[in-house]
Amino acid sequence: MPVPSPASSRPPTDSPLPRCGVCNTASRQPVFRPNPPEQAPDLDLRPGEPVRSTMSRWLQQCPSCGYAAPDITRAHPAAAQAVAAAPFRALVAETTHPPLARRFLAWAHVLEETGALHAAAEATLHAAWVADDLGREELSRSWRQEAVALWRGGPPMDDEQTVRVVDALRRSGAWDDAAATAEALRDAMPAEAIAQVIGLELRLIAAEDAGRHTVASALPPPARRPHASHQRIAGRGEGFVAKLRRWFGRG
Ligand SMILES: [Zn+2]
Repeated sequence: MPVPSPASSRPPTDSPLPRCGVCNTASRQPVFRPNPPEQAPDLDLRPGEPVRSTMSRWLQQCPSCGYAAPDITRAHPAAAQAVAAAPFRALVAETTHPPLARRFLAWAHVLEETGALHAAAEATLHAAWVADDLGREELSRSWRQEAVALWRGGPPMDDEQTVRVVDALRRSGAWDDAAATAEALRDAMPAEAIAQVIGLELRLIAAEDAGRHTVASALPPPARRPHASHQRIAGRGEGFVAKLRRWFGRG
């Protein structure tokens, strides 16, 4: 169920409450305006603090039909059918799963049903992060593997998505698949920052280390980094490289 928002983020009392894009029920919902992360993200791009601990406000959820989305006033034309169907009802009623994880899985299910497989993978990975925080390792593993299947079921992946697939495989202990996927990306000569992250992944996979690591541990310390203009920035993976630069204040 939605977490009550702090008073400062509530809409003014004279503005109407948002209405669910699926069932039209009005409800009070948190409005999330994140501050930019200050800490380096994990290798699967889970953001650092202060964003990291705000997951309970990333999605809104309708108290009536259970539809969950970043903005529940918006819904894909096919969302109503997905929300009414048995698989969605079972998902939101699965009380052995953490409520916040169910909210991410609910959004993932709607995305999958409406054909947005990569976005569904992302939302499923978010459910795994919730399980990480609660120490529910089996759920973390199984949701990471579901996320990998969704990524692979969608359109061709860019380098950033492949890095996240590698990390999800590593963190779920799928060593052979993780190693083969990482080696294929390494051999495709990605941009330097991607190559460094993949290098760390390969070392972690070889050590069968399924733990959390940040991109900060993949990159050399600032004094020894080559100037950004010396880096080979290929078209592929440029978004990831740009993000790495932003996180480390260069470029
Ligand atoms: Zn609703």
